[in-house]
Amino acid sequence: MSTSLLYHAFGLVGYRYVNQSFQGGEVTFRIEQPREKHRCSACGSAEVWDQGGVERTLRAVPIGSKPVLLKVKVPRVICFACGKVRQVKLGFADPKKRYTRAFERYVLELSRLMTVQDVAKHLQVSWDTVKDIQAGSLQRRFGKPNLHKLKKIAIDEIAISKGHRYLTVVLDLVSGAVVFVGDGKGVASLAPFWQRLRRARAKIVAVATDMSKAYIRAVRDNLPKVVHVFDHFHVIKLFNEKLTAFRRALYRQLSSDAERKILKGTRWLLLKNPDNLDPEHNERERLDEALRLNLPLATAYYLKEDLRQIWMQANRRAARRVLRDWLARARASGIRMLIQFADTLEEHQEGVLAYYQYPISTGPLEGVNNKIKTMQRQHYGLRDSEFFLLKLYQLHETKYALVG
Ligand SMILES: [Zn+2]
Repeated sequence: MSTSLLYHAFGLVGYRYVNQSFQGGEVTFRIEQPREKHRCSACGSAEVWDQGGVERTLRAVPIGSKPVLLKVKVPRVICFACGKVRQVKLGFADPKKRYTRAFERYVLELSRLMTVQDVAKHLQVSWDTVKDIQAGSLQRRFGKPNLHKLKKIAIDEIAISKGHRYLTVVLDLVSGAVVFVGDGKGVASLAPFWQRLRRARAKIVAVATDMSKAYIRAVRDNLPKVVHVFDHFHVIKLFNEKLTAFRRALYRQLSSDAERKILKGTRWLLLKNPDNLDPEHNERERLDEALRLNLPLATAYYLKEDLRQIWMQANRRAARRVLRDWLARARASGIRMLIQFADTLEEHQEGVLAYYQYPISTGPLEGVNNKIKTMQRQHYGLRDSEFFLLKLYQLHETKYALVG
């Protein structure tokens, strides 16, 4: 084999081909570095004296479907410039790695199209080898996200492992990238994030979260000058939960079977967007019948529909009028659930209306959530927890095959 082929096919510069062997379907090339090319790995001096060495065997890019191994003696030299014994750098592989950089690049190329398992099988290496190469690349690219330019963020919790475990995810709303993944839920999981923000001297202008007290306190303590927007999906979701509980309570109070029958199965109809009611199943009629039967339920239902209007106004002033009107009607209903919700909404109204200053939400985190679920459905998704977390940082790129 020529030196030129070593360079073009295997990315080896400054090495000489010695011999080759074929065994067990594998191709092994022995190569060596000419003595005059030996340099001190610390200072680069050529004033070195050989002191033996160790042999390393490295995986190189395959030839067709045949695995290729490189055997190379890594010389140990005494450097006269620094007066120390050192191992000469290989130049084509990182220290302690059992594959060449060209092999690493090839694995990353394949990883764009194939799963970890497919790549491992194709190259006849272990799942862990492919995983380590991907993890190393992810660590280099995303290990320390640059938070300095962060402007608008969303924070939310995501349940994984069927709700047995939580992650707190921070999303850059401008780039769509995950910039932090905290283990667990609650404020404690965000502590390292605030620290990194301070170190990066980030100038965040707006943050979207739900209305929970924990987030309110955390944002006030750590980002006192930002505009805190309460995510509108969470506000509506909270109301829907109350509405579901309210319907259940009403159902229990009904005395006649006939009335119960009308209310039964209306839970989803109540939560559905009215535009999506299915005419083929008489959903509109069934809902109307239930609402006619039960005035308190009808009141709550129409207030649910009107709640959305708060986020559909031309400007903040108009939205404030809609919100105040909503509060007044909820309170006038005399229904405890609605009055309580009105109190909550009023207490958080500045954060709700802040949407008109920064129209942001935690909605984009839903996309992250869905991708995580896809990853998790794969058998290998959680085999390596740290790897799983690293993969979240490149979700927005989906350059690599997502699944394990
Ligand atoms: Zn030296």
